[in-house]
Amino acid sequence: MSEKSTISRRDLIKTSGAVAAVAAVSGLPVSEAEAANGNPRWAFVVDLRRCVGCRTCTVSCKSEFNVPLGRWRAVIKTVDWGTFPTNRRAFVPRLCNHCAGESEKGVPPCVEKCPEAKSGERMKLGKERYRTGATYKRPDGMILIDMDLCIGCYKCIDACPYGVRYIDPAVKLKRPDREKDFGIGKCTFCDHRVDNGIEPSCVQACPHSARTFGDMNNPGSKVSKLIKEFKLDKNRKKTTLLDEEKTVPHVFYIDPEGVLSHYSFDHKNKEKRLAEYRDRII
Ligand code: SF4
Repeated sequence: MSEKSTISRRDLIKTSGAVAAVAAVSGLPVSEAEAANGNPRWAFVVDLRRCVGCRTCTVSCKSEFNVPLGRWRAVIKTVDWGTFPTNRRAFVPRLCNHCAGESEKGVPPCVEKCPEAKSGERMKLGKERYRTGATYKRPDGMILIDMDLCIGCYKCIDACPYGVRYIDPAVKLKRPDREKDFGIGKCTFCDHRVDNGIEPSCVQACPHSARTFGDMNNPGSKVSKLIKEFKLDKNRKKTTLLDEEKTVPHVFYIDPEGVLSHYSFDHKNKEKRLAEYRDRII
């Protein structure tokens, strides 16, 4: 396996819980709770200078999860601005932000609104105990879904201001009273790969190395270095999407040209925000 395709051994050890007492030595401005729990805090950095809009990542994601036609977990938004002959075009990759949520709540709106957010098993990751649910936040920051517990209220779809969740016709609810109804899909940060020390599918597939994934609790990780170099965590208004929603996203954008200032969508309108995840090639 190439160096690019693996997450550092230190990060993997922390994820698997094999060394429970790994110290979280972080000078980074992540929440104290997340830094202190001994677990990684997974984060994603997209370098907008490198993305050429080829969509290898979105196809790779579709293939990894068998995402049905008409649905996407990762999309590329084409952004045009300016007037000829100085007009510009750039591309903004989008995925679930695996938001931390406001500090007092500690969970993003999708988890907050899920009536079954704590209906699952008690689990332990590193030093921290947590409870799984239909939609829940793992101590390493991943926002995951357990379809065995989902009751199909779809409140999480309404709650996410980014429109990243969709009703998935390839997944059925498991509850006996709802087993004819569809489940929910969204980006998982490829937890099944990350838990085995392998980078997310889209990161591995990107031919331009525009996507970087790693542990922002580890000052030595590439993600931490990029966050530090480009002050991504200190300048969230310009480096994340919808900072005003206070969801505290953990997908950051390196954007020295201000591409994000030219990209907007009506996130208050459900149809329009969901429409952002109906990808078009042109
Ligand atoms: Fe939840 Fe949406 Fe944030 Fe993902 S982007 S964690 S689905 S609120």
